[in-house]
Amino acid sequence: MKAITVKQPGGAEQLQITEQPKPELHEGELLIKVKSAAVNRSDIVNREGRSGYLKNPNLGIEVAGIVEQAGPGTEIEVGTRVMGLVNGGGYAEYAVMPAERAMVIPEGLSFKEAAAIPEVFLTAYQTLFWLGRLKEGETVLIHAGGSGVGTAAIQLAKQLCEAKIITTAGSKEKLDFARSLGADHCINYKEQDFAEEVLQATNQQGVDLILDFIGASYWKGNISSIKVDGRWVLIGVLGGAKIEEVNLLELMSKRIQLTGTLLTPRSDPYKAELTADFASSALKLFETKQLKPIIDHVFDFENIQQAHLHMEQNKNIGKIILKVDP
Ligand code: NAP
Repeated sequence: MKAITVKQPGGAEQLQITEQPKPELHEGELLIKVKSAAVNRSDIVNREGRSGYLKNPNLGIEVAGIVEQAGPGTEIEVGTRVMGLVNGGGYAEYAVMPAERAMVIPEGLSFKEAAAIPEVFLTAYQTLFWLGRLKEGETVLIHAGGSGVGTAAIQLAKQLCEAKIITTAGSKEKLDFARSLGADHCINYKEQDFAEEVLQATNQQGVDLILDFIGASYWKGNISSIKVDGRWVLIGVLGGAKIEEVNLLELMSKRIQLTGTLLTPRSDPYKAELTADFASSALKLFETKQLKPIIDHVFDFENIQQAHLHMEQNKNIGKIILKVDP
């Protein structure tokens, strides 16, 4: 089968299409004929050789396709249209997926739309509700409001929780889009001081929860923006991982609960439980169009290098999809 592999750790030019053996199927797994895959920041980190956690050296952590073969101990029928997270190897004509992570694609969605769902919606769901414990009527600050995870989080916070949503992004286009998804207050972090804006929007109280993709460069702004007893979930370090000066008293005096997380290295049972919870709460909302997969651009399999560059240049609003089987 054809699969995208990395010649050696480095830039997008290191991505190449190679012939690889079809993956072996084990108990509890499905062999998926991949129709579409999607690009994630962690693929870039893996391509650059900066992470040590991927079980499969082939790139790609999510796919949508058709079950070609079902291993022993699985209950899904061959021929079912599914989407879900894989343990690497998603940028390929065939991928194996633990059956417990397969979600039946909601009625009316194409494979491309389905491939735009698993990683960003599961991440947003996990961080907003499992870790962030967002409750109805609370205020959440969602950074990177035009990102894949950001666009999913805005929709979930609005549709499942009726939260008040404040978001930041670096362009009017991204903020207008975030507003169309349900964001109540939109801040251009390149032109405005986001912490000042957040305090103004919350009657100087701050937000109950911060969903933070940015890290170091937003540290001070986040400390100012959060309420006393606020929760803060750190899921990315796009603005750096190291902070020169931290005053821990600021965390203590506001009684801030700061949690860091990474989904990909989590265990199979954790991902299965998260998938099941998300599927039962949210999948029906894709059928009624209350939730939408957000696709920025679809790239042909051959154009994987451009797809990675598109993400690295921060051009996308929502997901970048890879068309594997035309
Ligand atoms: P994405 O679609 O590529 O969007 C990221 C956006 O962040 C960029 O388009 C850019 O938009 C903004 N950004 C980039 N650098 C920035 C900076 N220095 N300061 C402020 N904004 C910046 O990304 P994604 O796939 O949604 O992922 C978002 C983040 O979540 C990534 O860091 C990813 O690694 C992380 N993530 C974590 C987990 C986890 O389990 N922990 C899971 C999935 C994703 P602007 O134009 O607005 O600047």
